[in-house]
Amino acid sequence: MLAALARATGGRLRSSAAALGTRTFHLTGSTAAAEAAEAQCAATQADADFDLTEDQRQFKQVAATFAREELAPFSAEWDAKHHFPVETIKRAADLGFGGLYVGEDMGGAGLTRLDAAIVFESLSWGCVPTAAFLSIHNMVASVVDRYGTARQRSMYLPALTSAEHLASYCLTEPGSGSDAVALKMTAKREAGGGGYVLNGAKAFISGGGVSDVYLVMARTGQAGPKGISAFLVEKGTPGLSFGKPELKLGWNAQPTTAVVFDDVRVGDDSRVGQEGEGFKIAMQALDGGRINIGACSIGGAQFCLDSAREYTRSRQAFGSPVSHFQATQFRIADMATTVQASRLMVRHAAAALDARSPTATIECAMAKRFATDSCYNVTNEALQLLGGYGYLQEYPIERYMRDLRVHSILEGTNEVMRIIINRELDRLDPK
Ligand SMILES: Cc1cc2nc3c(=O)[nH]c(=O)nc-3n(C[C@H](O)[C@H](O)[C@H](O)COP(=O)(O)OP(=O)(O)OC[C@H]3O[C@@H](n4cnc5c(N)ncnc54)[C@H](O)[C@@H]3O)c2cc1C
Repeated sequence: MLAALARATGGRLRSSAAALGTRTFHLTGSTAAAEAAEAQCAATQADADFDLTEDQRQFKQVAATFAREELAPFSAEWDAKHHFPVETIKRAADLGFGGLYVGEDMGGAGLTRLDAAIVFESLSWGCVPTAAFLSIHNMVASVVDRYGTARQRSMYLPALTSAEHLASYCLTEPGSGSDAVALKMTAKREAGGGGYVLNGAKAFISGGGVSDVYLVMARTGQAGPKGISAFLVEKGTPGLSFGKPELKLGWNAQPTTAVVFDDVRVGDDSRVGQEGEGFKIAMQALDGGRINIGACSIGGAQFCLDSAREYTRSRQAFGSPVSHFQATQFRIADMATTVQASRLMVRHAAAALDARSPTATIECAMAKRFATDSCYNVTNEALQLLGGYGYLQEYPIERYMRDLRVHSILEGTNEVMRIIINRELDRLDPK
């Protein structure tokens, strides 16, 4: 993995650094990308206390370089044009980011959840929606790796880890989001033969219409979680269609659509896991997804913190830089503390998931709840520190704020996180 990262970094990233010179990087309007990079490096010093291994420091460095050179310079344009940067995602996969915790036998990087959280945090510093889509793609790849048959693994994983094919996760339906167990989509056994017929619709699917592979939860049996199974459905299967891209507040650099199933026929070998295991698979995948979305919030908040510090040093008011006012210093201190607290929670939850700790689910829910809400608040504080300029699209803060807002809603709303936390408290301590 490290060798692959090093090879890739030595080659392509150098050439993209040259391309960077031709783009304007709107950090403070007058600040160049090089200064932003410096700010990012300085900001990473706060990580020292989590005892990253040498390997983890290297993953982080590679991801940060990619974010700085291949994501940040273009992310404003992708947001404005609603462009899904598929080619950039493929280049991220060249570095191992398409299958972070997929086994190396299938072209994955074989990393831990903690390693992945570090990578997603660094990537999202450059572009939150692109990092977040990679996190969803990785979530599906990890389901195939963990629950797939040998045939499914060899059929899907090489193309997913290289991002030659992209993957989407389809749980939410128009009538069921938080109450996912109430999903209505059906997968009925073909009369007199093998295979299933899928009917129904999924809503809000990230990557919808562009992704090549869809992990779909559908009802094969009774009401409740044990009646749900998981299927892999390929784009182009007759009866599969997509709604128009939703117009959204943020996450504009990736499409969100409905996915419609009208008598979609799939073989038995499209089912992932046993019949009735789909809900368990979907929820286990979300534990990891929640860590990643928390990590994406941290990267976005770190960017806003770095930008606000930079801006307030150069902006003058009442005869001195805004950074000299104690109110500014206190606000920045609180923002930095919040980002660091979020980072520690997310990484601790990731380590618990790696260790298959009985506290992993509660830790993932707590970390997601805390990091997504708190880091969104950090982007709002950063916007305030830039005054009127923070509100302008010429500066990146309002975009990061728009992008982070949805993290409190998806992968389970933060109200649902509180439900999980309470349920797990009772399970872990039933007295
Ligand atoms: C941009 C975007 C991308 C998305 N990508 C995907 C994707 O790729 N795949 C996918 O499957 N889904 C995706 N989603 C869907 C997302 O996971 C759901 O929107 C989310 O789970 C909430 O469901 P809902 O929108 O139906 O809200 P509802 O479930 O209708 O909730 C409405 C409100 O009620 C609250 N609420 C509900 N139940 C309770 C309760 N018991 N106690 C207290 N409060 C409660 C909720 O927290 C929320 O505030 C995406 C959503 C967005 C916006």
